[in-house]
Amino acid sequence: MAAAKKHILVLGAGISGLQTSLSLLRRGYRVTIIASHTPGDFSPSYTSPWAGGHWRSHAGTSPSDSALRSYDSGTYKAWTQMLNAAYTTRDAKGRAESAVMGIRYKSICFNPPKYLDYLFKKVQELGVKVIKISVDTASGLSGVVRSVKVVLGKNGLDEVFAMVNCTGLAARHFLENDEAKSLFPIRGQTILVKGEAEMTRTLVGIPDAPESEMLYVVPRPGTGTTILGGCKQVGNWSEEVDKELNERIVARMKRFGLCDELRGQGGDFEVLSYQVGFRPGRTGGPRVEVEDKGKIDGIWVVHNYGHSGAGYQNSIGCAEEVLRLLEPLSIN
Ligand SMILES: Cc1cc2nc3c(=O)[nH]c(=O)nc-3n(C[C@H](O)[C@H](O)[C@H](O)COP(=O)(O)OP(=O)(O)OC[C@H]3O[C@@H](n4cnc5c(N)ncnc54)[C@H](O)[C@@H]3O)c2cc1C
Repeated sequence: MAAAKKHILVLGAGISGLQTSLSLLRRGYRVTIIASHTPGDFSPSYTSPWAGGHWRSHAGTSPSDSALRSYDSGTYKAWTQMLNAAYTTRDAKGRAESAVMGIRYKSICFNPPKYLDYLFKKVQELGVKVIKISVDTASGLSGVVRSVKVVLGKNGLDEVFAMVNCTGLAARHFLENDEAKSLFPIRGQTILVKGEAEMTRTLVGIPDAPESEMLYVVPRPGTGTTILGGCKQVGNWSEEVDKELNERIVARMKRFGLCDELRGQGGDFEVLSYQVGFRPGRTGGPRVEVEDKGKIDGIWVVHNYGHSGAGYQNSIGCAEEVLRLLEPLSIN
């Protein structure tokens, strides 16, 4: 196989970097990860631990969404196979008051920090070398490639033939102007409550609410907890928890009865924590492609970032696309 034993650097250890690494390792590549944050860390600059944790595709039916559909469905198929042994389904029932239409589908819910830990352990078992360091981004993409080479050298590792850029929102610090401008935060705020909801439920288009606010309920299997959300606030970098938004989420959950099974005797939820995270938004959708400048300092760069609110549900599909893009490059 052409890929066998070729060395690849993955920059980033969020869901995109970890899944890409796992898929590369399984295909026979040698992989080194460089990342400033790894599973177990919690930081506003590290989106992955803050995710809600369900599969709900945002891809539409238009031809321009065909890549999104294939990334999401690739992940759905892989997860469904993975879960086969312990697969349980529950019938959706009811429809929120005043809802004009509803869609029922089999979703998959997961606990993001736990899933990151699982992937991190898996890639290390398969021999990945992890270097926890922040790469200098002041001199653009070519500066990043040079810095990466220096880090590899200092760690006694041989040169890589390609680097996969999985830096999420941080890619805006080193990519060229127009590309950097296309990246923006989509702020999310969630409430972790006690009890596991029967199933995931979403309500969009809430009467009297801004379009940036919606409701979603995501049980975290096996933890006795559930995530309640939320919002999608484009361009908002505020790390502060918005208390009024929390109140609106709770009031709407009660009003529309989205997870009444979690309410205690007094009718309230038992709140465990509040979270804020920044989805890596990108105009035009995720970027999964080979850098169009060709090799930089002798290294191919493949991008895999800009996954907005879909980084988990498209992770395996995107990693498969990275493999497909690398295949012809690894022959040369
Ligand atoms: C509230 C909320 C709910 C969400 N719910 C869902 C959901 O239910 N389902 C779903 O699919 N998605 C969901 N998402 C979206 C998902 O979380 C993101 O799309 C995903 O986490 C992005 O992952 P990433 O690996 O691309 O980026 P990140 O997780 O941000 O990882 C970036 C990595 O790059 C590293 N890095 C960056 N710069 C450097 C540097 N200079 N040097 C070294 N390392 C660097 C970082 O340290 C980190 O390791 C949600 C997001 C939020 C905020």
